[in-house]
Amino acid sequence: MTPPRRLVVVGAGITGLAAAFEWRRRRPDDEIVVLEAGDRIGGKLHRVELAGHWYDTGPEAVLARVPEAVRLIEDLGLADRLVAPATTQASVVLPDGRHPLPAGTVLGVPASADGLDGFLSPDGVARVRAEAALPPLRLDGDVAVGGLLRERLGDEVVDRLVEPLLGGVYAGRADELSLAATMPALAAHLPGAGSVLGAAAASRDAGARSRGDVDGPVFATVRDGIGALPEALVAASGALVRLRTPAHGLRRTATGFELSIGPAAVPELLTADVVLVTAPAAKAARLLAEVAPAAVGPLQGIPYASMAVVAMAFPAQDVAAGSGLLVPPVTGRLVKGVTVSSAKWAHLAGDALLVRSSVGRFRDESQLQRSDDDLTAAVVADVADLLGLAQREPLETRLVRWGGGLPQYLVGHPARVAAIRAAVAGVPGLAIAGAAFEGVGVPACIRDAYRAVDSLL
Ligand SMILES: Cc1cc2nc3c(=O)[nH]c(=O)nc-3n(C[C@H](O)[C@H](O)[C@H](O)COP(=O)(O)OP(=O)(O)OC[C@H]3O[C@@H](n4cnc5c(N)ncnc54)[C@H](O)[C@@H]3O)c2cc1C
Repeated sequence: MTPPRRLVVVGAGITGLAAAFEWRRRRPDDEIVVLEAGDRIGGKLHRVELAGHWYDTGPEAVLARVPEAVRLIEDLGLADRLVAPATTQASVVLPDGRHPLPAGTVLGVPASADGLDGFLSPDGVARVRAEAALPPLRLDGDVAVGGLLRERLGDEVVDRLVEPLLGGVYAGRADELSLAATMPALAAHLPGAGSVLGAAAASRDAGARSRGDVDGPVFATVRDGIGALPEALVAASGALVRLRTPAHGLRRTATGFELSIGPAAVPELLTADVVLVTAPAAKAARLLAEVAPAAVGPLQGIPYASMAVVAMAFPAQDVAAGSGLLVPPVTGRLVKGVTVSSAKWAHLAGDALLVRSSVGRFRDESQLQRSDDDLTAAVVADVADLLGLAQREPLETRLVRWGGGLPQYLVGHPARVAAIRAAVAGVPGLAIAGAAFEGVGVPACIRDAYRAVDSLL
């Protein structure tokens, strides 16, 4: 066994904290220091009190089919706090009204024209069917999701189906997002299938086979909020967390690393044997400038979308909107989605209607310039309208702004990630992980944290 070492983790989001937890399991005697620039742990994991409940204003559901998040929650001894959704039936708001989200798509990409009647216009459905008559698809490198689908299946599939789903996950635009990075399974099946519909069918069937066709719930949450996980992770990892302590410089020494941390005017030096960087891409670029300069350009090529989430408690009343509404840009609406939390999660049902809604997409962030009060009032009005509320006056609201909330996997993203990984791999004892690379969801971040720990050990 090698002697105890000091791991320094930069960033106390889910990636950094999951890495600290995993490191502790595998190296019980090491010292773990987590540096956090902000004044709280959790990064995008965040909860508020709303109408007597813990209520998530960052991630509110984790994919159960990417098992790392559910397993981590179990490993933390919180299995009894896991909750499956009471309903997952969502609808899409379109200029001609509200339509149930068609089943069986791959992030909105249909596997056939079946079930699209009414959701798309007759011309739109015909356009999807017509893909069978197109020449086999040959792709040369990464392409934008929107461009490819517009060409093969028509604009309506993008504007009405794919945009709302991708917009929900990335707050991004289908016309700029990378096919290979945002739909890797579908992209992998394209060469064999020769058509988008065929690749969507193959990728859906392969997913079902790998799950053994056991149709468990797709999503899960935590009774006290996903925002409860950071505290549990810090306690279980025994890491020393230093809040309000940004890392702003990293250099190699004869035996490991030296970080300059704390206020830039009066920096403190901290030595480390191993370093894991989980700060968002632009911050990571600055930190790696000296030790891994080849990572800087590709890191700077990963922009972020900003958004705001408004959590609202209305008087209890009936709304027939299932788990919520997706609101694509074609509607011209302010909000981009509404989650009806008190319908989606049984533990949030009770004496109030709990709803959250978000505003802001990549390159469409002007509404975020409004004051807190103004933005909240506008979101409340839009949501009350979309849900057709009889009692439109909220009992409570909370606004949370996420400047740089979600990284954008633009065309060429996989090549950027490969370049960053290669540059960092050239520095023994250094790793990088987080939402910027191979999945923005919480389970993907945890998976990336474990991969980084493996690489360092
Ligand atoms: C509004 C919203 C809703 C979402 N909903 C979902 C959802 O329902 N399901 C899901 O799976 N995912 C969801 N996501 C995505 C997911 O929450 C994030 O991608 C993930 O939490 C990011 O984790 P991270 O640790 O990689 O980064 P972060 O959470 O950004 O953590 C990085 C940390 O590094 C710190 N830092 C930055 N610079 C420095 C520095 N120089 N020194 C020290 N510390 C530094 C930051 O302050 C931050 O705390 C959502 C995201 C947002 C914004």
